[in-house]
Amino acid sequence: MEQHHAVVVGAGIGGLTAAVALHRSGRRVTVLERAADLAPVGAGIALAPNAQRALDVIGLGDRVRDLAAWQGDGGMRTPGGRWLARTDAGAAAARFGGPLVLLHRATLVEILTSALPEGTVRTGAAATLVDPGDDHRPARLGTPDGEIEAELVVAADGVRSATRHALFPGHPGPRYSGCTTWRVVVPAPERPFAPHETWGAGRLWGTQPLKDGRIYAYAMATAPAGGRAPDDEKAELLRRFGDWHHPVPEILAAVDPGQVLRHDVHHLPDPLPAFHRGRVALVGDAAHAMMPSLGQGGNQAIEDAVVLAHHAGSAPDFVPGRALAAYTADRLPRTTAIVRKAARTGALTMLSARPAVALRATLVGAVSRLGPGFVLRGFDGIADWRPPVAPNRSA
Ligand SMILES: Cc1cc2nc3c(=O)[nH]c(=O)nc-3n(C[C@H](O)[C@H](O)[C@H](O)COP(=O)(O)OP(=O)(O)OC[C@H]3O[C@@H](n4cnc5c(N)ncnc54)[C@H](O)[C@@H]3O)c2cc1C
Repeated sequence: MEQHHAVVVGAGIGGLTAAVALHRSGRRVTVLERAADLAPVGAGIALAPNAQRALDVIGLGDRVRDLAAWQGDGGMRTPGGRWLARTDAGAAAARFGGPLVLLHRATLVEILTSALPEGTVRTGAAATLVDPGDDHRPARLGTPDGEIEAELVVAADGVRSATRHALFPGHPGPRYSGCTTWRVVVPAPERPFAPHETWGAGRLWGTQPLKDGRIYAYAMATAPAGGRAPDDEKAELLRRFGDWHHPVPEILAAVDPGQVLRHDVHHLPDPLPAFHRGRVALVGDAAHAMMPSLGQGGNQAIEDAVVLAHHAGSAPDFVPGRALAAYTADRLPRTTAIVRKAARTGALTMLSARPAVALRATLVGAVSRLGPGFVLRGFDGIADWRPPVAPNRSA
């Protein structure tokens, strides 16, 4: 086995962050990505202070913080425009020790890849786990160029992870959440607006500014799996959200029908027994895919990557069994709780019976009047996370 060679399967946010973190620990890293290029979906991603602090460990936190665009207030509304709960960017930053940053996914991929040596990422390279290895023998992977050995494999191959299935064949795997999503990036509307998330009956819409002046908008609705609009997805959005409050109609007017992303949401409601086997560690959606209702899937993938590198320690001291058990012990309870919270929040946002929707609006309004911070309270224990303090020593 080539010493200190870590192989990452999948060049999503989790895989690229793990590659940077392991490179900084003194390993040679290869990232194998089956797609022909690294073009991420053309959408935004929110990174909370927990992910920013994880990125600080690998020297990239400030590059993300510099992209913070939200200023002033924002909050939750009804489709008619009534505010249910308000907060502001300053309160969020004060509560969690940093801004909530919304950036374009392509920007995040660029930030991560710029921290890797040239040639680290190989695209068009689907990998298959042949043997997870153990403390005494290397892991082995099949690649288009033949079999390779690795002292550590990071399986960051997403919600449909074949590596997860190979390691835990008895696990039921991902389940459809009952919800589909749409995402668009458009020029800013002419009239000003406050960033918002608006909950209707069985559907929601959010509008957030990007630093470059554009707008990222997302929507979610209950729908059967695999559904597609009979005409186009812009027409579908107009049918579902066209009469909602400003700025939703203006944003929809600016949407190019060909640029609307629609994805069904699958998640892993049943936790895995562990996030590792042998020399293989699962990271990100491969380990704990969650509903997007807390905007934490990518944040948790970033936390995973940095915590994994922390426990893997410096390359010469690496003992896979011990290091990866510590990684599982660190990450599995936290991410299981967040997967469950995301599912509960998703169910609350997707209530569709009219009396339940009315009761929800009354309760949210009442709770938010009782004390400030209703919108932010849901992120307590999540956005205030801090990375392990001694990046090169196992806890
Ligand atoms: C609508 C929506 C909004 C969201 N908003 C947010 C948000 O605001 N904030 C947030 O933190 N998260 C958000 N998320 C979640 C976030 O997008 C995911 O959690 C995150 O992208 C997962 O990253 P990953 O690296 O684990 O997996 P992926 O991004 O799925 O990457 C997996 C990669 O592995 C590759 N791959 C698969 N199999 C192989 C193989 N055999 N060989 C080689 N390569 C392989 C794939 O091609 C892919 O590139 C959102 C999700 C949705 C659906």
